[in-house]
Amino acid sequence: MSYLTDLATDIEKLKQDGRYRQIKVWESGSDTWMHLKGRRILQLSSNNYLGLTHHPKLKEAAIAAIEKYGVGSGSVRTITGTLDIHDELEMELASFKGTEAALVFQSGFTTNQGALSAILGADDVVISDELNHASIIDGIRLTKASRKIFAHKDMNQLEAVLKETQHHRKRVIVTDGVFSMDGDIAPLPDIVHLAETYDAIVYVDDAHASGVLGKNGKGSTDHFGLHGRVHIQIGTLSKAIGAVGGYVAGAQLLKDYMIHTARPFLFSTSQTPAVAATCLAAIRVLKESPDLVAKLWDNANGFRASLQRLGFDTGASETPIIPIIVGDPAQTMRFSDRLLEEGIFAQGIVYPTVAMDKGRVRLIVTAQHTEADLAFALATLEKVGREFGLI
Ligand SMILES: *Cc1c(COP(=O)(O)O)cnc(C)c1O
Repeated sequence: MSYLTDLATDIEKLKQDGRYRQIKVWESGSDTWMHLKGRRILQLSSNNYLGLTHHPKLKEAAIAAIEKYGVGSGSVRTITGTLDIHDELEMELASFKGTEAALVFQSGFTTNQGALSAILGADDVVISDELNHASIIDGIRLTKASRKIFAHKDMNQLEAVLKETQHHRKRVIVTDGVFSMDGDIAPLPDIVHLAETYDAIVYVDDAHASGVLGKNGKGSTDHFGLHGRVHIQIGTLSKAIGAVGGYVAGAQLLKDYMIHTARPFLFSTSQTPAVAATCLAAIRVLKESPDLVAKLWDNANGFRASLQRLGFDTGASETPIIPIIVGDPAQTMRFSDRLLEEGIFAQGIVYPTVAMDKGRVRLIVTAQHTEADLAFALATLEKVGREFGLI
């Protein structure tokens, strides 16, 4: 049993570093207030940006789809697992994103695995922001392409890399649209400009921008008015959209190509009918309710400004993702635990997800938080923040 001894040693090390984590088991669904061990807790760490997990139209669509199609899709997409509801969702997504086509995967994670490994060959080079999401890093690892990493949002470095990689068959610049740990926005106009200058492809992962940035939450391309100039847009259906899944939006030819090459599409069962129907209903709700996204931004901007007035370090945040930088990993986890004692869930995020001295609790404000919720959050954060000498 020596492999277990090795694992136990590693776990012991995590405990010593204060990085060992007990997963919270919630007794109610994703919402602003949730039940944990019989207590009502204010949720400040979910990706449920628009509160769509409980939207009546989404719930109705899911139930109707189960009644019509049953609970599972029966196969991968290329065998019997493409139902008309999947097709309809892809058409709706393409129209929402303003692209020729969209292709849906089981999650945002598998979308990056599938899309990156499909488009990148041994003669290509992928050029990636150092803070890109783990699913991008893993997707790149699946390919034989050359890899270049540029410092976070450093356009001079990006340009230097583009200049020195002109001999490759193609150059693919990959960036998150909104960075998940800091809540800052990629400089997409500059990236597009450099890509056009040096003949590169732009690949943007809008997981945290879907339903958040742009008109009706169409994403970062729409936010910056770059329609037609970003080649590959990745979105997730798991965060603001309220269910689970991911998609690639882009050219019809890209979709056709991925149908034949993207391995999670070819070898893993498609979204269940209820999930596909839920996502379809969610996109329709988004199209009809610009007020939801407006409320999200009002809440986020107001809350961030209040935290800053209290003296908290909110890092580079410019979106509803608002980190409170604490520093030391063990201290960060203690801060998160104290907030929970006071009735607030704020997930601590520490090394190796972020740098060793950049531990933070990551807050995500949603459109559903009321003024009273946010006032309670601020008062509690002020009290506990003083205890920890953060303000
Ligand atoms: C969350 C996230 C993903 C993964 O999306 P899922 O649908 O949860 O698998 C991919 N990319 C980025 C940038 C993310 O933040």
